[in-house]
Amino acid sequence: MRLPRFNYLGPDTLEDTLDLLAFHRDDAKILAGGTDLLVRMKKGLLKPNVLISLKALKDLSYIHEEDGYIKIGARTPLADITASDLIQKKACALFQACEKIGAITMQHYRGTIGGNILQDNRCHHYNQSDFHRSGRQPCHKDGGKICYARDEADRCNSTCQSDGATALMALGAEITLARKGGERTVDLANFYTTDGIMPFAMESHELLKEIIIPVKGAQSVYKRLAYRSAIDYPIVCAGVLLKPSKSQKNKIEDVRIVVGAMSRSPLFLVQESSSLKGKSLTDVDAFKHAADSSMTSASTFAVHHVGATLEHRCEMVSQMVFQALKEAAQKAIDVKG
Ligand SMILES: Cc1cc2nc3c(=O)[nH]c(=O)nc-3n(C[C@H](O)[C@H](O)[C@H](O)COP(=O)(O)OP(=O)(O)OC[C@H]3O[C@@H](n4cnc5c(N)ncnc54)[C@H](O)[C@@H]3O)c2cc1C
Ligand code: SF4
Repeated sequence: MRLPRFNYLGPDTLEDTLDLLAFHRDDAKILAGGTDLLVRMKKGLLKPNVLISLKALKDLSYIHEEDGYIKIGARTPLADITASDLIQKKACALFQACEKIGAITMQHYRGTIGGNILQDNRCHHYNQSDFHRSGRQPCHKDGGKICYARDEADRCNSTCQSDGATALMALGAEITLARKGGERTVDLANFYTTDGIMPFAMESHELLKEIIIPVKGAQSVYKRLAYRSAIDYPIVCAGVLLKPSKSQKNKIEDVRIVVGAMSRSPLFLVQESSSLKGKSLTDVDAFKHAADSSMTSASTFAVHHVGATLEHRCEMVSQMVFQALKEAAQKAIDVKG
């Protein structure tokens, strides 16, 4: 498989990058590490005329803490995240997620956190070569009018398999999107559309600039299931953030449960999360109940198209959430002593 022809632009400053994005709009794509983009281009899933590289924008690679928030530049390599004591200590779910992404070479030399969040949704009917797809009618995401994953579907249900996005949503992260002449900050949980063709509520001339994680004195855990420990995308994953109460000994003040790889976007399960407020840190039955309920909720979105049977993936939601809750609660108990 060969890359289609394209023009390569390598701006030196953020301002120049935003100017180029404003000029080329839908004709251009941002190139960060290229580990998602170039694979899709080789398969003929995408044919941008222009690639705007972030290679020279070293200023967009950083991790620091400021006024109760961890701030991460979008171009930060995944390897910097897994090497960061700050992330391991205060945003552990993100550390655990990035550790599992792809393979070491991908993390260390290429993949960025921005590209991880913005990688396209996947579906094994669609993520195939031109040759494979040419043998049948195109599906919605390929410009056609049918879906091979769900009968009669009027839209694309391709799945977000980003480990980073699931962990970040559990951590309550926001993202800053810059464009020529301005920027906006959005809650990651509100960043997604309901259509797998264009999964992100983002304009083509916008650039993901920064990820902002609130530091809440909470414990976070990320769990994922994949066929192999390296190279494979998650077939189901879960991120949990658990904040123990300051005033009531051994009680939970707040929880966020997010399930990934089951839908068009990571799923922040509000009801299941609220059900644990005020419960004891050792209430394993409550964790089990929230985990089973998460499985029921997440199962309504899933379709069979990312490997493993749908039944197995649905069952594993409960396991992932339960384990993450138990581990986060134990960490909270250990810290309080
Ligand atoms: C074999 C293999 C295994 C993989 N396994 C996993 C896995 O287990 N888990 C997982 O989560 N991912 C996995 N990936 C996907 C991917 O490699 C990673 O998500 C990686 O972090 C993507 O980052 P990148 O910098 O290479 O993105 P790129 O490929 O450069 O970009 C991805 C997309 O984001 C856009 N983009 C990137 N940065 C910006 C920005 N700052 N602003 C606007 N748009 C931007 C690009 O235009 C492109 O559309 C895998 C990929 C491969 C090939
Ligand atoms: S979910 Fe359906 S429309 Fe979307 S990529 Fe898969 S087959 Fe195509």
